[in-house]
Order: sequence, then structure tokens, then C-alpha cells
Amino acid sequence: MKRILIIYTGGTIGMTRTEQGYAPKSGYFRAALDAIGELRDPQMPAWELYEMSPLLDSSNMTVREWNEIAKRIAAHYDEYDGFVILHGTDTMAYTASALSFMLENLSKPVVLTGSQIPLCEIRSDGRDNIITSLLIAAAGRVHEVCLYFGGHLLRGNRATKYSADGLMAFLSPNYPNLAEAGITVRYHEKSLLPKGQGALRLQLLENVPIGVLKVFPGIQFDLFESIMTEKLRGIVIETFGAGNIPGEGDALLPIIRRAFANGTVLTVCSQCPQGTVSLGAYETSSSLKRAGAVSGYDMTTEAAVAKLYYLFSCGYDKEKVKEMMEHDLRGELTV
Ligand code: ASP
Repeated sequence: MKRILIIYTGGTIGMTRTEQGYAPKSGYFRAALDAIGELRDPQMPAWELYEMSPLLDSSNMTVREWNEIAKRIAAHYDEYDGFVILHGTDTMAYTASALSFMLENLSKPVVLTGSQIPLCEIRSDGRDNIITSLLIAAAGRVHEVCLYFGGHLLRGNRATKYSADGLMAFLSPNYPNLAEAGITVRYHEKSLLPKGQGALRLQLLENVPIGVLKVFPGIQFDLFESIMTEKLRGIVIETFGAGNIPGEGDALLPIIRRAFANGTVLTVCSQCPQGTVSLGAYETSSSLKRAGAVSGYDMTTEAAVAKLYYLFSCGYDKEKVKEMMEHDLRGELTV
């Protein structure tokens, strides 16, 4: 019988009603799982629950929790056939991206899931999300960090939360879904990463100072000058379309050049969920390239942020980080 470790981090799925709104409550979740009869069905894998402390609304996730989750997976890697991480939806795509970089050479499934409606409510989407995630983790067909939600299995570092209240809350706009859960779970074999060969490698993350800047019409770049100091190691710039910035870069360019000279790695992503950055396609993006920015291609902002944390935590210098930001490490981008 397959054995799965469930790591419960918090999030709506296990929350209860409080006077201040839904909040996680320590010790409550085991009882909520015990109330789901299907989880004891002979078709289900054997599972064990590890509850993190404190339980978090995922808005409060930090590098510390990412490290804790990754360490737990690595420490118990040989004891289980797969891992299911129960997580709040708000930052699930960030955690999935971070884990995809931290856990190199995966040969077992790591499935993140959660729900939009808590298990304590009758219309909860949590039941199917847990049951199907456990079955996917036990099937052993995927060997990567993925995210299951509302019938779709997505590559973790390609996923983005796109609905605040829909039950199909995540999309993978630039990469095919890994599987669809209909009457059966249909895997798209060609879209899956190959099984990792050799031992799992764990890279813990450091709390590297990173920023995200979204451009908008009329942006006054000089207001951002004070945050673009040498303290900032990496910045993701969310540009228009295929990598365009206002004012042909006249206002932003000197700031970017200074930031780059200070050692900051600037990565250009798009505000459009779908499609790719193509630096130099328009005059308005050529300047970014000349100033030393790198292309994030079709990476999500979530993946770009997690990748910057990862590469700096590996100890690479600025030039190496720049080079690797444009390379596909875990299926996170298409060049
Ligand atoms: N605020 C919650 C969280 O991310 C939302 C959810 O789980 O759906 O933890």
C-alpha cells in the first residue's frame, strides 16, 4: 500500500468560523479529516498528517515556512511515496514555485492543494481537492511539484491564482495542464517532467531582499529611486505586453542602470498572464535590455520571485544569477 505524508500548513481548507472571520485552529484539522469517510476507503493510500505550527493564513507565508515544508519533505523522503501540502490559496503558487526550485531531482509527486470553502461548510471544495490530490500523489505518475485544484493538475511553477472566489481558482496560462480529473484522472504524459535520477537535493532559501515593481501609465519612476538601493538583490519588473515600459525608458533607465551597477538583478515579466516577454521587439523594451535587465520570458511573477530567492540562496554571483534567470531549471519557462 502506498504511503503519503500530508503536511497541513493552514489556509481556508482547515479554517473554522471565528468572530473575526475564518481562521485556522490548531488540532481541529485532524477531526475534520476523520469526518471524511472516503479517506478511509480501501482505494485510498495510507496517509499520515503532520500539522505545522503555527497554522497560517497563507498571506503570512515566508521563506521560513518554505524551508520548514521543504525540510520535512527531504527528511521523510524515503518513508513516503508522495507528499500532499495543504495550503491557503492566496500564496499557493508562490510556495509551489519555491518548492519546485528547492527540491531538485524529485522522483516523487509533491502536490499542493487547498480550498476556497472550508471543510466545515457543506459546499466545501476541499473534499475533492484532498481526495484527488492523495490519489495523484499515490499514483506516482508525476515527479515534480504540482498544484491540484478544481479538477486540474498544474505544474506548480506555472500556476497563478486567478480567481478570488471561483472554485477553479488557478490557471497555468503558459503551459499545458499536467492532468485533468474527470471520470478518471487523465495525465498529459508529454507535459510531465522526467523522473529525477539520483538523490534528492535540497536547497534552503535565505530571506534575500527582493522587490516587484508594476509599471502603469503615468508612473513617476523617480519615486522608486529610494527603494532601488544596493540592498535590493533582485527585482521583478511587471511591464506592459511583451516587455514594454513607459517613456521609452527615459525616466526608468538611469535608475535601472544604477540598480544594475549596485548588483541588483532586474528581471522583466509581463502584466499579461499569457504570452512571453520579448526584449527588443519594441523600441520601448530595447532600453531595458541595454540597461542590463534579463528576460523572464513567459515566467509567472510568482516563479520569477521564487527563482531569485533560490539563485541568490545558492550563493551565485550577479552574473550567474542573470544567466540562470533566462534558463529553464524546472520547467518554469519557455525560451
Ligand atoms: N486567505 C486564505 C489563505 O490563503 C485563502 C484560502 O486559503 O483560500 O490562506
